[in-house]
Amino acid sequence: MTAVDLAALRQRAASLRQLIQYHAHRYHVLDAPEISDEAYDSLFQELLELERAHPDLIAPDSPTLRAGAPPAAGFARVEHPAPMLSLGNAVTPDDLYAWRERLLRLLPGDIAILYTVEPKIDGLTVVLHYEEGLFTLGATRGDGSVGEEITANLRTVRSLPLRVPVAGDEAPPRRLVVRGEAYMSKAEFARFQAAQEAESGRRYVNPRNTAAGALRNLDPAVTAARPLDLWAYQIVALEGGPDLAGQWPALAYLARLGFPVTQAQNRRFDDFDALVAYCVQWGERRHELPYEVDGLVIKVDDFALQERLGYVGKDPRWAVAYKYPSAEAATRLLAIQVEVGRTGVLTPRAVLEPVYLGGVTVSSATLHNADYIAERDIRVGDTVVIKRAGEVIPQVLRALPELRSGAETPWQMPDRCPVCGGPVARYAGEVAYYCENMACPAQLVRRIEFFVSRAAMDIAGFGSKQAELFVAKGFIHEIADIYDLPDRREALLALEGFAAKKVENLLQAIAASKQQPATRLLTGLGIHFVGAAVAELLLEHFRSFAALAAASAEEMAEIEGIGPRIAASVTAWFAQPANQRTLARLAAAGLPMRLPEATPEAPATLAGRTFVITGTLPTWSRDRATAIIKEHGGKVAAAVSGATDYLLAGEKAGSKLEKAQKLGIPILSEEDVRALLGWPAA
Ligand SMILES: [Zn+2]
Repeated sequence: MTAVDLAALRQRAASLRQLIQYHAHRYHVLDAPEISDEAYDSLFQELLELERAHPDLIAPDSPTLRAGAPPAAGFARVEHPAPMLSLGNAVTPDDLYAWRERLLRLLPGDIAILYTVEPKIDGLTVVLHYEEGLFTLGATRGDGSVGEEITANLRTVRSLPLRVPVAGDEAPPRRLVVRGEAYMSKAEFARFQAAQEAESGRRYVNPRNTAAGALRNLDPAVTAARPLDLWAYQIVALEGGPDLAGQWPALAYLARLGFPVTQAQNRRFDDFDALVAYCVQWGERRHELPYEVDGLVIKVDDFALQERLGYVGKDPRWAVAYKYPSAEAATRLLAIQVEVGRTGVLTPRAVLEPVYLGGVTVSSATLHNADYIAERDIRVGDTVVIKRAGEVIPQVLRALPELRSGAETPWQMPDRCPVCGGPVARYAGEVAYYCENMACPAQLVRRIEFFVSRAAMDIAGFGSKQAELFVAKGFIHEIADIYDLPDRREALLALEGFAAKKVENLLQAIAASKQQPATRLLTGLGIHFVGAAVAELLLEHFRSFAALAAASAEEMAEIEGIGPRIAASVTAWFAQPANQRTLARLAAAGLPMRLPEATPEAPATLAGRTFVITGTLPTWSRDRATAIIKEHGGKVAAAVSGATDYLLAGEKAGSKLEKAQKLGIPILSEEDVRALLGWPAA
């Protein structure tokens, strides 16, 4: 490593220390964090790793040297009756199995183990003391042995029982110490945040910090103003109560006394595979809960077994936290690339130093548009916070300017299209920049991709790859060329990876798309602002492309749901000679240029018949088949039953086919249904 590299690392470590201290202060002292915990954690991790690799970079004031949070001055100290343990973490199913392996090695082979699973609430851990049923003392977790006394604040938590049992005739225990989690629900947080922002312009980052700030406030009135709730989940000490054999009966007892317990989410398993499956599947649903959770806690149910398994250091061997991967991280923005969409919109995309986030490695993220970048002063070379939620493409949230070295460069939208070199323009009132060149190959690929997609003409076997290839080979210069592909059968067969069967299927799917309704064709043209709903409105009104092309913007704007912006875009599109030529070619190829006449009803050939559809049909999509059956008076059900008259089955039909065969239900092909309707074969 050169002296220059080392100096750069030293500089980086110093910037990180400063930034972490700044955010730690905002978080712990001011109770007004500016970045998420996860982003903070990833900065902290970077510093930790840097210091591990280069111990001489560790400064005496490094935040990495600080132990857990000691009780703050101003609060009385409360010694806990037993240490408040922390849990080991598991992040993958393999980790869970490894945890169980370690347990099994310590126990006799024939023992049956029950496991409890409970949500891990993302709130503030509290310890509640009850004497003869009366709530007498409440404390924070503190450093695990000693916490801060916050009894008055906890009294303001609405779901905390001030006396137990809340109802019923159970005798109150002589002494009870309960561990729980105080939290703010997502809904209350949203209300609280909106009110605060309107009042003082202050933003709160998440429910957890807001709850923690409320409870660790010296003024109970502040706590009372923030609507908090409680989940109770562990008995720390119990005297003069029932004998409880394990965690499951302990939770039931807490619920009987009137404590809020996450009963709807709690499970007990004897089958570990089922437990792991539950953990994995639950991760996808956890965002639907009205409160924040960051994972699940799995415990060996039986208290006697817990005791036998004991502890490693401070971690109990008999429990583990299954944590879901975080949704935010900090990483370096290496470059900003520009992508060209089907309408010519130029979209900036972040190229990132790869970072592990939400279970996958992320190396690119959206930056939305040029204004977004300018407003946040995001520069190439910056350390940025990125977020990934659900299946959504990750996005860059903000830059961390405190970490700049001076080498970062501000970014501007290029004035030439990066793909075709065409001029770039921006229209009044729009944030987007456009490549003005209609023949831009990048736009053409995107337009074809959209035209053949499920949202439009739904041509099976035709996707991004084929669109790119056919444009690159010069087979397609505009959308109408798709319907000339049958003339290029030989050229297609010569392409690598295009076997005879594949070419046949593709050409058949292209031919079949000519039966799609005119609304799908209008959608597929990719006219700016004309999606499926607008296409339907326009054609319901004008009935045909010819009438639509002849209509003025004023006439269009009179339709309910069509504004002047859409009308202007549609008339501008039809006014272009190139687009008129495309339409003429599509009409000549046999595509539907009008809606069917509304008046003559389709004959009710299938009246009273119930169909179930399964598998892949040769030319009809599932939607199309459903529409055809309904148009002719039939019904379509989701599942095969005694009430099913016919199963319409295509390729790769599965369990529905088996069931229909078992029930002796007639099985029809698409051809059979065409014959029933008196239609020609496809
Ligand atoms: Zn271009």
